[in-house]
Amino acid sequence: MTSQYVHLFSLGYSGDLDLRAVAKLINGCQQVISVDLLDTRHSIGKPDVNDLAYSRETLFHAFPKRIPGHVHVGVTVAPIDGNFYTVTQGTDSVVITLHQTQEVSEQAGRTKEEYVAQTLVTELLWLQYRRATGIDDFEQLYHLQTQACIFDLVLQKTDKVYKLRSGHICTSCAAKLAHANVGASYQAAVTSVLARVQKPSLVRSLTLGLQRPLFSFVLGTLLGGLVINLFSTLLIGQARDVIVPFAVLLVLTVGLVGWNYLRLRRPATPG
Ligand SMILES: [Zn+2]
Repeated sequence: MTSQYVHLFSLGYSGDLDLRAVAKLINGCQQVISVDLLDTRHSIGKPDVNDLAYSRETLFHAFPKRIPGHVHVGVTVAPIDGNFYTVTQGTDSVVITLHQTQEVSEQAGRTKEEYVAQTLVTELLWLQYRRATGIDDFEQLYHLQTQACIFDLVLQKTDKVYKLRSGHICTSCAAKLAHANVGASYQAAVTSVLARVQKPSLVRSLTLGLQRPLFSFVLGTLLGGLVINLFSTLLIGQARDVIVPFAVLLVLTVGLVGWNYLRLRRPATPG
């Protein structure tokens, strides 16, 4: 069933990014793309563009030996020359940088891992398109309009946040991909990953919510209240006195968790 093998690794330093979680997210919701992890490529040297950024040559030079037909994806925090978020080489190599993307993930209410997963599958489709058509000009697929298509070329950070919250494959891009014989199953696999990123499960929404100090504080207070109520009931043995405050706290807790869940699943509006 797998038709695309992807090897994912840290290229130089990639901060506290959990690559295992990226692979798990992608592998867990479809069967066409299979991601595994390679050892970190520690040595990418010093920034060779004005001592600030890395040229694509330097970054791809640090790549491991490629396996024909497989895609190799290096993730780094280093800035890329031209301030690109991603660069590709041929039809088998991608660099994704997390440079200046922290704010995008945070504003979108998504993790770094989800950002990387969405970016990775978008680039995979581009490489497939390129492999199938031989077209190198990315503007043949990517476009400027902000329609929350994953192939929107976004320059504003707010648009990038929107894309991470609501990105999909627009009808025009889907037609182009189909015309280039990029299989429907491949597109469907990517759509599953996008849905997984954009519609977090209840447990996932709770984990994301707990990363926000105010949410953690309010939830902690409510749960604390519930526990105290429960203990008083057990100790005093008179449930009648605490039933009302207990019910109120319970409704508030369920309401808070539910609100957070729906908030993270609703589609974004353009920024
Ligand atoms: Zn499109």
